[in-house]
Amino acid sequence: MVINHEKYITFRCPTCGLGSGKQMSIFELSGKGELEVKCEHCGSVCVRIARKADKLLFSVLCVACMEWHSFTANQKFFWGQKLTSYRCPVTGFGILCIGDEESAKKEQSAFDDEMMDILGELEADFIAEQDDEYPGPDNERVMFAIVDKLYLLSKTDRVNCPCGSHEILFDILNDRVHIFCEACGRDAQIMAMTEEDLEKMMETDEILLGVTEDE
Ligand SMILES: [Zn+2]
Ligand SMILES: [Zn+2]
Ligand SMILES: [Zn+2]
Repeated sequence: MVINHEKYITFRCPTCGLGSGKQMSIFELSGKGELEVKCEHCGSVCVRIARKADKLLFSVLCVACMEWHSFTANQKFFWGQKLTSYRCPVTGFGILCIGDEESAKKEQSAFDDEMMDILGELEADFIAEQDDEYPGPDNERVMFAIVDKLYLLSKTDRVNCPCGSHEILFDILNDRVHIFCEACGRDAQIMAMTEEDLEKMMETDEILLGVTEDE
């Protein structure tokens, strides 16, 4: 039996909202107790891998709930697997894929699609039907990351309306996301065109409807 001692690991960073991939080898884990995997874009530590006897302990910072989730794998079994993936126990989102590079990337993109489907249930009709109206792939990437971050904020009750209602809806337009309160009509516009829009969103910890910052 041939066992590949290299694995490719993919995840979506909760801090910046972007996807990351990294090659790791069994040798990085031998000797020292713990391996930290950082986001390739912003450098945040998103995954920790530790060895405990014949087990591997994975801790993943979850893109949906912003908390660390832990998973264990049997080492002997793990290195022989083509693909191992883990989901958030709270939201069911796929949060970590480990395998050969091709399988891990494929699973990650399935996880991303699933996430977009769930976002769709949040009143967000994304990309698919409007593809040709989209200005370009660059905006698509910015939009994706921004929608991701918005979802995360709303999931953790950080998108709020002063009226106290939780009926907050998201409408994804070509160049922005329109957020509005169904109860009182207060709203907010989040521009999603440029890198600056993305940076601004990544620095946002909370959105209060009806409070305009930019104009
Ligand atoms: Zn990041
Ligand atoms: Zn989670
Ligand atoms: Zn309201």
